[in-house]
Amino acid sequence: MCGIAGYIGEINNPKEVLLKILKNLEYRGYDSAGVAYVQNSNVVYKKSVGELKNLVKLLKSEKAKKGGLGIGHTRWATHGKPSVKNAHPHNVGNVFIVHNGIIENYKEIQDFLEKKGYKFKTDTDTEKVAGLFDYFLKQTKDPFEAFKNTLKMLKGAYAIVAFTKEGDKIFASKLSSPLVLGVGEGEYFLASDALALSDFTKRVVYLQDGDILQIDKLGYKIDHINGNISDRKIENLNELMSKAEKEGFDSYMLKEIYEQPQSIQTSTAGRISKDLKPILGGLTEVEPELKSAKEIHFIAAGTSYNAALAVKHLFDELGLPVFVKLASEAKYDNEKIRENTVAFFISQSGETADTISALERYKKEGALTLGVVNTVASTIARETHAGVYNHAGPEISVASTKAFTSQLSVLFLIYSLFKKLKSTLSDKDKLLLKELLQIPKKLEDTLPSIDKQSLKVAQKIFKKKSMFTLARGELYPIAKEAALKIKEISYIHAEAYPAGELKHGPIALIEKGFPTLYFVGNNLYEKTISNIQEVKARDAQVFSVCFDNMKEIIKISDNIIKIPKLKTATSLIFYASALQLIAYHSAKLKKLNVDKPRNLAKSVTVE
Ligand code: GLU
Repeated sequence: MCGIAGYIGEINNPKEVLLKILKNLEYRGYDSAGVAYVQNSNVVYKKSVGELKNLVKLLKSEKAKKGGLGIGHTRWATHGKPSVKNAHPHNVGNVFIVHNGIIENYKEIQDFLEKKGYKFKTDTDTEKVAGLFDYFLKQTKDPFEAFKNTLKMLKGAYAIVAFTKEGDKIFASKLSSPLVLGVGEGEYFLASDALALSDFTKRVVYLQDGDILQIDKLGYKIDHINGNISDRKIENLNELMSKAEKEGFDSYMLKEIYEQPQSIQTSTAGRISKDLKPILGGLTEVEPELKSAKEIHFIAAGTSYNAALAVKHLFDELGLPVFVKLASEAKYDNEKIRENTVAFFISQSGETADTISALERYKKEGALTLGVVNTVASTIARETHAGVYNHAGPEISVASTKAFTSQLSVLFLIYSLFKKLKSTLSDKDKLLLKELLQIPKKLEDTLPSIDKQSLKVAQKIFKKKSMFTLARGELYPIAKEAALKIKEISYIHAEAYPAGELKHGPIALIEKGFPTLYFVGNNLYEKTISNIQEVKARDAQVFSVCFDNMKEIIKISDNIIKIPKLKTATSLIFYASALQLIAYHSAKLKKLNVDKPRNLAKSVTVE
């Protein structure tokens, strides 16, 4: 995970540039932050634990001067506790380095270097890379060669930015972790994502795996670890990537929840014809393969995984085997990837390491790979054969909200495309698209009341330690997403169960006042009522998210959140907004930082 920043040039001052880029990247990790920059041959080297603001305080007394170079980092710890000692940049000998990812063979490197007399001070894998670079520097005296030799010995995943005490060049490389070069007028920037550079330049180069970059004040060159020269083109940052601000909301999360009418609108804009047919330009080229698909796989992690699970019911109507796999498992399972498999890789950031890793396997084993991602030009977008962008706009809050509903919307369209190609769209399929077009307005009208009702539920659960989220059939993935969201931002242990399964064990936990949150739809309605009665008989508290005409549910629940009645799977979007707001309010009532929950980071770029 983590965010990486770099700067070299005479126009801006390194301290301010690095802090600004790190601020834009803080969503990627906030265990610690640090910078090292060179001005007038002096290295300023500062690190602090916790959020970036602590580093800002620490640097207050450092005068900002124009010109120089430097590197910065916000950490999401993988090796070694969050502490000042373990914070990046790391310094060994003449080398300063920041790193995103995991060096799997760091122990071997450590043993090798210790034999050569190196002593290490931190628990991180990264420090050993700094040592290795320093070691080769002493051998060759040519820093570029030394950097290259270092990279050749690394196993694992990395984006690395480094400089040596001479302080006139920056070196960088990447393997399975993102790194973007920003090209200014006589100055250069580095960051883990392109958006983080948009304050400084709109011209970016997406570095590819194995690229080795060297920048000095005159320019840059990119070689490749395999010996070739890499010819990477400069791309222009898209308008969509303009910086997102909170716009009056107390958090990005709330802003993004309220943005959903708009983000669903942009996700579907121009993608449904007047006669209710899907138009997905990104998949036109692969339509023959979609038509002959024999199996459909969805591979994703976290909330994106829940989005895939939530549409499985719908895709099952195609009559093909549909598999939904967790990305962290999909790379390593023993299941054969059969001929004519079409595999979708779903990720908001497009940089999720587990998903990228599974993608490599699917590609190697001959599947058609398709991306469903939000971030334009991200790794998954570039590495898949084709795909569909979410167009939900930048999502900053760590807890994903608008990306989830936009994934659902795009997946509805993909289902419709399959249906159109494989047979023909039924009246029900057309109704799905018709309702999807109506969602933005309906959601805009009902969000304020869903918000108020969610607050009432949150007021009753926020002090509890644990709870169940429950649903049957196609709504069960919504219960899973509720449990995930409540856990990740409210720190309440919420566990999702299919409502009918509770009686097979977990019901033993029910006692007076134990909170249960039900998502109720028309499917298996009567059976869900019986399941609710079972927990009520044991004095559980019952909260339900249901259609506004479900009188029986309204009667038996302690609190309800009413959502408008829709006839198709599009109603998943309303259930989703209710669960998001319950989680949001519970976290707020607990006075937690909803945008930056502990131990998490927005884009998970380690396996
Ligand atoms: N593995 C490194 C560490 O734990 C880098 C983690 C990151 O990507 O933030 O320090």
